[in-house]
Amino acid sequence: MPFPATCPHCRREQPVEFADSLIHDLKCPHCGGRFCLFVRKHKFEVLFDLGTQALLGGYAREAVASFAAALERFFEFYVRAATLERAAATGQEFGAAETLLDRTWRHVASQSERQVGMFALAYLLREGREPEFLGSQALGADFRNRVIHRGYLPPRTEVEAYAARVFALIDRLLGELGEGAGHAELAQERAFAAHLANLPDVVVAVFEEHPGMFRARRFGGAGLEGLGPAKSARRPAAPPPTRLNDAQVFGQALRERAPLLDRLKSR
Ligand SMILES: [Zn+2]
Repeated sequence: MPFPATCPHCRREQPVEFADSLIHDLKCPHCGGRFCLFVRKHKFEVLFDLGTQALLGGYAREAVASFAAALERFFEFYVRAATLERAAATGQEFGAAETLLDRTWRHVASQSERQVGMFALAYLLREGREPEFLGSQALGADFRNRVIHRGYLPPRTEVEAYAARVFALIDRLLGELGEGAGHAELAQERAFAAHLANLPDVVVAVFEEHPGMFRARRFGGAGLEGLGPAKSARRPAAPPPTRLNDAQVFGQALRERAPLLDRLKSR
């Protein structure tokens, strides 16, 4: 699903497809100017937002694959954040810790069950308790498999219930991670900085933060804003803890944030 990007040279918009790296090397079709667009967002956020857009657009079945992928990528995000946080606490150099993490992740990258195993241990080590929410019932794994692998055509209500469950779990774990999420964000900033360092002078760097269904807990002021024209929109702060059920939490987020997703649609 493309999003509109504004050319920093002529201010005209063009549709851009999300790149897997969230780094987009672009050439404006209107003026020919070159620019590089860095989107400060994580894969799990992009995937969940794509799922939400599909759900709201009437593509309930297609939405399930995006929500399921969002949860898997969130588990990876958690492992990265927790591991880099731990490395920082023990005085390990960030780059060295990240290299070790990348090399370790390669052993689990192609099998999601292995990744869930990594996540379970990361959660235990960080929180000191069992990740009781990992039961397949709680994760909606049976529903996901019926839809994705057996062609089940789910009614929208079932997809909404699944999305609500995934949303509530990610939202809760992001809350528990708190400042710890900043370590995974720093890894993204470093990847952006490495790409930026190799850009020729004619290429203008543009940094964007897109609104989405999840709040971001970004490193305050530790970004690269000073290095290029920034278009930063801070996302709303965390709401106070409530005792809503999953569907209510998701419904509330949909009302508040889905209109923001609309702005991301390419015109
Ligand atoms: Zn242009």
